Amino acid sequence: MQYEYDHLIVGAGITADAAAKAIRESDAAARIGIVGDEAHAPYERPPLSKALWKDDKPVESIDLGTAKTGAVLHLGRRIVALDRTAHTVTDDQGDVYRYHRLLLATGATPRRLPFGGERVIAFRTLDDYLALRRYAVPDARIAVIGGGFIGSEIAASLAGKGCKVTMLFPGSGIGAGRYPHNLSAFLDGYYRERGVDLCAGVRVVDGRDFGDYVELVVADGTSARFDAVVAGTGVVPNTELATASGLVVDNGIVVDAQLRTSDPDIFAAGDVANFPCAPLGVRLRVEHENAAIGMGHHAGRNMVGAGDAYTTLPFFYSDLFDLGYEAVGLLDDRLEVVEQWTQPYREGVVYYLDGGRVRGVLLWNVWGQVEPARELIEARGPFDAESVRGKLPRLV
Ligand SMILES: Cc1cc2nc3c(=O)[nH]c(=O)nc-3n(C[C@H](O)[C@H](O)[C@H](O)COP(=O)(O)OP(=O)(O)OC[C@H]3O[C@@H](n4cnc5c(N)ncnc54)[C@H](O)[C@@H]3O)c2cc1C
Repeated sequence: MQYEYDHLIVGAGITADAAAKAIRESDAAARIGIVGDEAHAPYERPPLSKALWKDDKPVESIDLGTAKTGAVLHLGRRIVALDRTAHTVTDDQGDVYRYHRLLLATGATPRRLPFGGERVIAFRTLDDYLALRRYAVPDARIAVIGGGFIGSEIAASLAGKGCKVTMLFPGSGIGAGRYPHNLSAFLDGYYRERGVDLCAGVRVVDGRDFGDYVELVVADGTSARFDAVVAGTGVVPNTELATASGLVVDNGIVVDAQLRTSDPDIFAAGDVANFPCAPLGVRLRVEHENAAIGMGHHAGRNMVGAGDAYTTLPFFYSDLFDLGYEAVGLLDDRLEVVEQWTQPYREGVVYYLDGGRVRGVLLWNVWGQVEPARELIEARGPFDAESVRGKLPRLV
């Protein structure tokens, strides 16, 4: 089969959805095609590790409603080749799609463990969620590998379902390197109090799925059995198509402020894109929903000719049991970290400073402050520990 689209989007995630909606808002007649290798129409990923576990909402509730744009969805198809001269892409069944403008919204893939099996789940997709739900019954022994965003969220959700959760990660504590040391230590205690067995400073080196259980081996040679294993060990951007077709790639597909790649007819956005972040004055690749929505929207508008620069400083959010936060900019404990707690580790603001500027803000159970935090990061300063304290929260 051959298809022809004005705007073709490869990848059917949050970014693709935002782009299709923006294209449709600007052009009622445009022919929009979306090709995605998952079997599902674009859906929200964040509830997979949070809301779907808490409220037992049906999975249909996370559908983004992309079909309403009139975009044609080609699902369960993987694009395997991009011919920039012919303006075509080809899928894994040999179908060819011709485009006028192309958006690469291919996202990212979880890092795989050096072993596999049905009970070993590198957590990313709706199918991964459905697979894990089958094992996540009360008293099931589940290992969560990784102490970052996905690991800490999924561990809390599994514990909430009565599973016996063991977290294993090489860092010194949950969110180490991102949160201040004392906050990370508080979280470790918080998880332990809620029944999570925490194995910090531990590297999983091997594992085997025996069919009805998985055995994990850690670096000191000890091993343990689990009913299932979930990995949240980070992701890598899906850049194969871009690389193979000669686009500039460097920790993601390199785009300009208009989200154009090194080929003016091809855009990239979301988890896969490495973009110039004007407010921070650095290039970033962001793996968060706000960036996926914002960049997808901008890319869609620019595909129909708007020419807008993406200048937003993305924020992200997370929920850990009944704790939650929003964060803006760079969270890196190698920066100067200034803590301001209204209630220690329950409610407060953490500022990350460098060279007299605020580079990041963690809003811990403090809500409605994303815009003021963005403004603080953009302010010239200079700030030091004393002068930055009390800048947030601000009445809005
Ligand atoms: C469990 C989970 C919880 C999260 N929670 C939060 C949160 O609380 N807060 C937050 O800010 N962010 C969160 N995120 C991150 C957020 O969901 C991502 O940043 C966002 O989904 C990225 O969207 P995307 O469309 O750019 O990429 P993706 O979601 O990766 O979508 C890309 C799609 O393209 C497909 N694809 C790739 N290559 C091809 C190809 N060649 N042909 C066809 N299809 C292809 C992929 O399979 C995938 O379906 C979470 C992510 C996960 C996994």
